[in-house]
This record gives sequence, structure tokens and C-alpha cells, in this order.
Amino acid sequence: MANGSVRVRFCPSPTGNPHVGLVRTALFNWAFARHTGGTFVFRIEDTDAARDSEESYEQLLDSLRWLGFTWDEGPEVGGPHAPYRQSQRMDTYKEVAEKLQEAGHAYHCYCTASELEERRDAARAAGKPSGYDGKCREVGPEQKDRYEAEGREPIVRFRMPDETITFTDLVRGELTFTPENVPDYGIVRANGAPLYTLVNPVDDALMEITHVLRGEDLLSSTPRQIALYKALTELGIAKEIPSFGHLPYVMGEGNKKLSKRDPQSSLNLYRERGFLPEGLLNYLSLLGWSLSADQDIFTIEEMVAAFDVADVNPNPARFDLKKAEAINADHVRLLDVKDFTERCAPWLKAPFATWAPEDFDEAKWEAIAPHAQTRLKVLSEITENVDFLFLPEPAEDEASWAKAMKEGSDALLRTAKEKLEAADWTSAESLKEAVLAAGQAHGLKLGKAQAPVRVAVTGRTIGLPLFESLEILGKEKTLTRIDAALAKLGA
Ligand code: GLU
Ligand code: ZN
Repeated sequence: MANGSVRVRFCPSPTGNPHVGLVRTALFNWAFARHTGGTFVFRIEDTDAARDSEESYEQLLDSLRWLGFTWDEGPEVGGPHAPYRQSQRMDTYKEVAEKLQEAGHAYHCYCTASELEERRDAARAAGKPSGYDGKCREVGPEQKDRYEAEGREPIVRFRMPDETITFTDLVRGELTFTPENVPDYGIVRANGAPLYTLVNPVDDALMEITHVLRGEDLLSSTPRQIALYKALTELGIAKEIPSFGHLPYVMGEGNKKLSKRDPQSSLNLYRERGFLPEGLLNYLSLLGWSLSADQDIFTIEEMVAAFDVADVNPNPARFDLKKAEAINADHVRLLDVKDFTERCAPWLKAPFATWAPEDFDEAKWEAIAPHAQTRLKVLSEITENVDFLFLPEPAEDEASWAKAMKEGSDALLRTAKEKLEAADWTSAESLKEAVLAAGQAHGLKLGKAQAPVRVAVTGRTIGLPLFESLEILGKEKTLTRIDAALAKLGA
């Protein structure tokens, strides 16, 4: 599918925080556009004044930039179909809604909510389809006057053709919808506000979108949109009906659909925890797609080079935080050291740093960074891993202390101190031998001998490679901390 005329869109509504499902949709559209040399259109569906917010709009733009997506048309960059915010296109929707009514593709529906509910319940009870029954399809002028005299305010409803709609989903293959399952539906509210059901396909038509890739939750709107598209084509507003592809559901905990409200689904959470955009995108691409059976780790360029919608798997994908972290860890390792140290910068300052800014030591940081790089899953872990270098005393962690300081730990620490005093402090290997020898003197293997030393010096049982850490911290501070631990054990 390598042609320059592919036009895809990413068209979120600015409500709430961006979530990972949204990012996956953006990613697949973007990758498809880049793979085909097509156009990636970014459109903001902000026609719901009650739910949309400017803050959320800003967040969407900021998120796309952070992820490294560029858009060819959309907010801030403009394009031939500007404006790309639906709130600025209201006149267009009004005009199209009128044309649809004039041509008989849409009509005023005067049914009240309670009337609709009553008829829905009756249909259900009779075992019939419970969607809109078409009552207002043929309202004559007199009836209309009567309704209006009663003070009823109509909505505009689209008239679904009484025919079966079949289309070939790019992911799921051929799908068929019969008319009973796709009733006439509202496109404009009684107060004149156009609905998603209208504005989304109208803009897809006007913006000449060729492929609609979106979540499976929107599958039920596709037959409606195809019918609307046909009407728009008749009116000369649409050119060609786009192809549709529905991306699989993402399942979260307990095999339930991951919802926007799940904390796990918030993009900001991943940013705050120090996921790399490339790690997160690599992981999200696996929710429905894979590069090959034996390669989980790849760059965005590799994904773009290989991506085809036809390869998307229709089965639900499982969101697995552990796997996301493991993949991110691989991407952390792939950075060059300088890039890694720069990306850690936010976590070495307020509000994350637990040390005073003047106690930060650039040279020590540069020395420890390569050791940290091979061990972090997410960048936010850096703070705890290096705090021992910059805090005047190691962080206090009761659980670590209790775990490492056993009977005989004081004797071990005294021997370790002696051996370390005599060691070569320009060589981590020499420091290791010192602790090894101290362990041997007390019948302990290296692992057991090293635990109390680690807790004495860094405060925690888990951390970066110990002997490199000691070397970087330096002889004086290391020995002072062992003394302090011995004093604490003696007390
Ligand atoms: N604004 C819609 C949403 O965020 C777009 C859905 C679509 O891609 O058609 O759900
Ligand atoms: Zn009606």
C-alpha cells in the first residue's frame, strides 16, 4: 500500500487526560501515514462545550509532541482544510445538516425522551429491536404545527436507508449490518448543537480522509457513517467512502476493558514515572501488532518501515505493565550515555531530589550514570539509586536495615572496614576483594558479606553495583558510614 495519497486522521476530543488507548490509536495512524508517505491529519473534536476543556486541548498537543509525533495538518500547523478544531467549524455542520434535510436524508424528530423510552421498553418486551422506530419519518405539516404548538423542540435525525450495509474492515474482514440493527440516529440536538455522529464523518469527508483507523468501541458507528457518507456523496460533499479499520480492545486488570478512568491508562502516569517515549510507543505498538514473532524490541523507525494495517490482530490485547516496563528498560539501555544522563535530569532536581541542590556532584553523577543505565526500568528510579552519593548520610530504610543487619554483622563490618582501609580505592575489583576477604574471615559468601556493607553505605539492600558505588562515593565517606553503622549496632 505504498502510495502518496493516504490520508489518515487522529481526532480526539479534549476531555480529561490523554490515555494509552488514545496514544495507540494515534501511533497506528501516524505509523500508517509515515509508512505510506501519506498525510497525518490531527483534528480536535471539541463540539461538546460541556465536556471539552482548553487545558485538555493543550495536554493533547503537548502529549503528541512528547511522543515525537508530527502532524502534517492540524492545530498550529494549519493546512488546506483549516480550521482543524471543530468548535471553529460550526457553520459548516449547520449547512450540511440543512442540506441533508432538504434532500430527505434527515428529518425532524419530535419524540420526547419519555416517549422514546416507553416505546423502547415496549419493543424490548415484545422481543423486537429496541432502537428508534422511525415514528417521525413521515411527519406532515399539520402534525408538525401541532407538535410545535405543544412546545416540542425537534432534534435532527438521519434516515438510515432500509438496506443491509456491508464493508470490509481492514482488520476484521467483511462485516455486515442489517437495517434492524442500525436505526435512524440523531445528528443535531434540539438546541442546534451538532453531534459526533454528524461532525466526525462530515469532516472526514471534507478533509478527504482515506482510511479511518480507530478503536473497536466505535465499530457500531461505522454502518451509520457509511450511510451518511453515501448521502454526502450524493450531495457532492464527499468524494469517496474511506476504508475503516478497527483496532482491538485493550484489556486491563481482571480481563476487563481498560477504561479511561483506570489510573493505569493515564499517559501522564507513564511520563511521570519516567517512561521513554520510544519505550512506551514500542510497548503500545504490541497491543495489536508485532514486528516479528521473535523481536519485541524495536525502534519507531523499524515500526514505520514494517507497519501495515492488514497485519493488525483483531483479538483483544492485554495491557501488561510489567512487560511495558521491561521493554522500556531495554530502550533505556539503548540510549547513549550522554542522552541517558540528560534525560534523567528532571529526577535529579526538585521536587524529586531528596538532597540539597548544592550537594549534587556532577562528576560523581557522570561516574555512576553508566551503572545506573543498565539497571533502571523507568527513569524516575534514578533518584533513589543515586541519593547515597549526594545525601550527607544514607537514606534511612528500616526494612533494609532489619534485613541486612543480623547477628555478627558488627564483626563483619569491623573486618570489612579494616580490609577496605588497606584496599586500592582506584579499583572496584580491589574493593570487592576486600569485602570477599572479610566475608571469608567470618564464614560468609560474598552476597551475605556485602549486604550489611551496602546498607551501611547506601541505606538500602537493593541498589547499583556495590563496589563501583563505593569507589565513586570515596574512601573517607564509605568508612565514616561503616563507623556510623557500627555505632548504631552497638547502641
Ligand atoms: N472524537 C472521537 C473520539 O475521541 C473520534 C472517534 C473516531 O476516531 O471516529 O472518540
Ligand atoms: Zn421521533
